[in-house]
Amino acid sequence: MRHFAVIGSGPAGFYTVEALAKAYGDAARIDLIDRLPVPYGLIRFGVAPDHQSIKAVSRRYDKVAEDQCVRFVGNVAVGQDVTIAQLRELYDAVILATGAPSDRALGIPGEELVGVIGSAAFVGWYNGHPDFADLDPPLDGESAAIIGNGNVALDVARILSKTRAEFVGSDIVDHALDALEQSNIRTITLVGRRGPHQIAMTPKELGELGHLDAAVPHTDPADFPDAEVDAALEPGVRKSVAHLRDFAKLDADKPKHINFDFFAKPIRIEGEHRAQRLIVERTRLDDTGASIGTGETYVVPASLVVSCIAYRTPPIPGVPYDEAGGKFANDHGLVEDGLYAVGWARRGPSGTIGTNRPDGYEVAERIVAALPPRSHGGRAGGDGLDALLAAAGVRPTSFADWRTIEAAEAAAARDGAPRAKMVRHEDWLKTLNH
Ligand code: NAP
Repeated sequence: MRHFAVIGSGPAGFYTVEALAKAYGDAARIDLIDRLPVPYGLIRFGVAPDHQSIKAVSRRYDKVAEDQCVRFVGNVAVGQDVTIAQLRELYDAVILATGAPSDRALGIPGEELVGVIGSAAFVGWYNGHPDFADLDPPLDGESAAIIGNGNVALDVARILSKTRAEFVGSDIVDHALDALEQSNIRTITLVGRRGPHQIAMTPKELGELGHLDAAVPHTDPADFPDAEVDAALEPGVRKSVAHLRDFAKLDADKPKHINFDFFAKPIRIEGEHRAQRLIVERTRLDDTGASIGTGETYVVPASLVVSCIAYRTPPIPGVPYDEAGGKFANDHGLVEDGLYAVGWARRGPSGTIGTNRPDGYEVAERIVAALPPRSHGGRAGGDGLDALLAAAGVRPTSFADWRTIEAAEAAAARDGAPRAKMVRHEDWLKTLNH
């Protein structure tokens, strides 16, 4: 029997478990460990609450969790309740699928001011992540700046723009829904350090901005090269750029405005005790496509600044780390003998949810090659983990526990919503103690 521990129950964790379960069948026991009592990681806490069709992928993960050889072990913080070294003793291989849940620093003065928030925190707040339930972002001012031109920046701009009615059918948490309804923000500036051709936004997500009830997107035609140049773009980018060109023509009279400021590099955030304005430097592109400052600066008023400049994987003591890449140091997923990384913890925060499937399968193949199935003896596996947790007084949650929580969340849902997420550890655990 082989024993595996996969740490992190987001997409990368689930696809890796699926691949291992297929490869080993009954010859393996796989524990899928999560710090939180509930599964799905990025699907529950990262994917936007108004993108329910994307979240539906969790139904597929449920089948994996219900496999006889697989066990969900929630509410276990690796590094705190149990160390990586202990897990490596207990299991034939430990696979890090911890994602990239931490914000990267902007590295500019004023970043510490009240009102400057990283996207991990802001997204966690509206998605009901317990670490950010008390974030209370300042929405009392009229202007917000969003730094970055990726899909997370789009999510944040859209969430700040939607009316209460537009959240029907979403699972946005009540504390965020109420705060957003009271928000005074009318002008949202999306700040990109490069141009429209260099965006990392996908067409479907960008197109949504053109159909909001109370907000209208704007671009400046002067920021675009001649239209013929678009033909050379990769088809997805070309579609996105077509949306951006269309935004320059929209003149709908709506109360909120989403302005795309391209060729604008953030250099400083200023304000008395709290953010009041973002200072940006105009840029141009060099021959390699990198942005270079021109020395000319201007002010973007902003009492809320959300930096959406991609994420990093938090290091774990004793695990080799690639500081520049913000992920575990690894060679095609292999960190060290018996220790692997998958998904964003392996390659950094890129690609779609589906990208993690081939990623997880590839690492699983490497594991099978290194650790062929065997019928006898071996490690203590899950029994050993249970003993350690019991000794430490940790009460892990099972997939059946999650089903209980899931039913309670569904029963408490607002009209039209799939669930009312509980956002605190104690509420999840209280539900199980009934
Ligand atoms: P991302 O796609 O890597 O975009 C990051 C953006 O931040 C880029 O525009 C980048 O500009 C900019 N940036 C980086 N460092 C900066 C700095 N110091 N100052 C100013 N700008 C800076 O990251 P993301 O938006 O966090 O998304 C992460 C991943 O999740 C992506 O693969 C994304 O597609 C995916 N995602 C998908 C969806 C969806 O499909 N619905 C939703 C959310 C996220 P440069 O290009 O100049 O570096």
